[in-house]
Amino acid sequence: MKLERVLPFAKKLLENAAGFGDIVVDGTIGNGHDTLFLAELVGENGIVYGFDIQKAALVVTEERLREHNMLERAVLIQKGHETVSTSIPEEHHGKIKGAIFNLGYLPGSDKTITTKANTTIAAVEQLLDIMAPEGIIVLVIYHGHPEGAKERDALLNFCCQIDQKKAHILQYQFINQKNNPPFIIAIEKSQA
Ligand code: SAM
Repeated sequence: MKLERVLPFAKKLLENAAGFGDIVVDGTIGNGHDTLFLAELVGENGIVYGFDIQKAALVVTEERLREHNMLERAVLIQKGHETVSTSIPEEHHGKIKGAIFNLGYLPGSDKTITTKANTTIAAVEQLLDIMAPEGIIVLVIYHGHPEGAKERDALLNFCCQIDQKKAHILQYQFINQKNNPPFIIAIEKSQA
C-alpha cells in the first residue's frame, strides 16, 4: 500500500514538528514506545515530558529508556496529562514543539484504565496555550471500545469548534476498513 499507514503518519507529523534539542510531550506513555521515539527525535539536548497515571507504565518506560541510554532525556510524571500546564515548568511554556497522545487502554492490561474525553480535552486545551507556535499535537484515537467511541465523538466535536485562527486541525483516517482501526487528529497551533 502506498498510502501512509496511521502510526507511521503520526511519527512523520512529529518529525515535522520537532527535532534535535526540542521539548516534546508524550501524553500517555504506556509501554514507552512513543517516549523512546520522541527521545531519539529530540536527541541528547532535548526533553521529553511523559505522563501516565499507572506506576507500571513509568517502570516499563524507564527501563526501556535506560536500555537505550536515553533516560536522562525524559522526565516521567505519574500524573494525568490534564495536569500538563502545572506539571511542566513555566520556563518551558511556549517552547513545546510536539505532543502525542496514544489514547485508549494499554494492550494486555486493565481495560478499565483508559483515557477519557474530559481529561484528554483538558490536556489539549492546556497544551494549545503552552506550546510553541506551529507546535503539533497528534491524537491517535482508538474507538473500537465503548469509552473510546465516547472519546472520539467528544474530541471530534471539540476540535471542530476550535477557531481556525487558533489552530489548523487535520483528521487522517482510512474510512473503509473493518473493526474501527485507529485514526489521527492532528492539531497545529497557529503562528502568533
Ligand atoms: N504510548 C503508549 C506506548 O507507546 O506503549 C501506549 C499508550 S496506552 C494506549 C494508553 C495509556 O494512557 C495507558 O497506559 C493509560 O494508563 C494511560 N492513561 C489513561 N488515562 C490517562 C491520563 N489521564 N493521563 C495520562 N495517561 C493516562
